[in-house]
Amino acid sequence: MLVVMQHGASAQEIDRVVSVIKEMGYEARPMPGAQRTAVGLVGNDGRIDASRIEALPGVASIIHVTQPYKQVSREWRTENTIVEIAPGFAIGGPDVAIIGGPCSVESEEQIIRTAQIVRDAGGTALRGGAFKPRSSPYSFQGLGSKGLELLARAKKETGLPIVTEAMDPDGAEEVAEIADCIQIGARNMQNYSLLKAVGRLRKPVLLKRGMAATIHDLLLSAEYIIAEGNPNVVLCERGVRSFDPAARNMLDLTAIPIVHRLSHLPIIADPSHGTGLRDKVTPMARAAVAAGADGVIIEVHPEPDRALSDGAQSLYPEQFATLVKELRAVAAAIGRTVPSSPPAPSARNSARSVG
Ligand code: PEP
Ligand code: MN
Repeated sequence: MLVVMQHGASAQEIDRVVSVIKEMGYEARPMPGAQRTAVGLVGNDGRIDASRIEALPGVASIIHVTQPYKQVSREWRTENTIVEIAPGFAIGGPDVAIIGGPCSVESEEQIIRTAQIVRDAGGTALRGGAFKPRSSPYSFQGLGSKGLELLARAKKETGLPIVTEAMDPDGAEEVAEIADCIQIGARNMQNYSLLKAVGRLRKPVLLKRGMAATIHDLLLSAEYIIAEGNPNVVLCERGVRSFDPAARNMLDLTAIPIVHRLSHLPIIADPSHGTGLRDKVTPMARAAVAAGADGVIIEVHPEPDRALSDGAQSLYPEQFATLVKELRAVAAAIGRTVPSSPPAPSARNSARSVG
């Protein structure tokens, strides 16, 4: 339930609403807005009697949120949420984010080279898994903590913010120390203890859609994170399993306008896992931006043929550079922008010494 305060309601009136909600045994979340403040009521499972609150001074109206994913829903918040990942890099505003990098961090040379490729091409953040959820226990599982260290070095070298995956609640804190955005993979979308753990961490979270999850399931999983107090959630459409083996997954681009309608959270697309095939990545990335995605996450590798995971869907560096240019044009056609990469730390230092 959402208590919408009158325009110009006083701080005492807002406090009164908060304390009545608490007396009723629920949690109150005041949300100051550009026009007026709303106070969200959380903790109820089902419709509650609002008559006590309705009559309080300063209350304009009561909105009963009909969706079970309350705080994620558009009813709860009408404006788009913009998630700031790092200074100067946000997802959900007019900018279209381009997150690029290898599936896995493999070595210092590989990740730093890839980071430079991503930055030079105009990408806005670096992806790369240190902890890898692989379908087979015999496949490369990632470098773990060492991989995180290498990501930190790549960030230092290039200035690119880092998106990397956490696989379990115990490991989430370690990942959060390095990551600017913690990825929750498709296989973990319904790992509720992990969702709660990252919800307590306040770091932005990239929540990928499970391979057999409905959009409704995805939004409920996001609710788990927000319910713990972390509002910085970015959703990701990465394809669902289908009957057709022609592609690895079926990238459901309809999810983008559907999520934008149902939720205020940003949503990006992952055409790499969504198709599984290098030559399908570029067209589907263009289509995702045209469909209104707030960004894309793309696998790129300096030598895809030698990649330890997902080489077949990883772009060659020059393909990634071309794609960024094309996405800039697609974004411009729909009134959005692809921002430039942050300046490399070395460039920043020399600019400072010149100035
Ligand atoms: C990945 O991003 O490399 C990954 C494993 O993705 P997903 O969880 O979508 O399969
Ligand atoms: Mn991958």
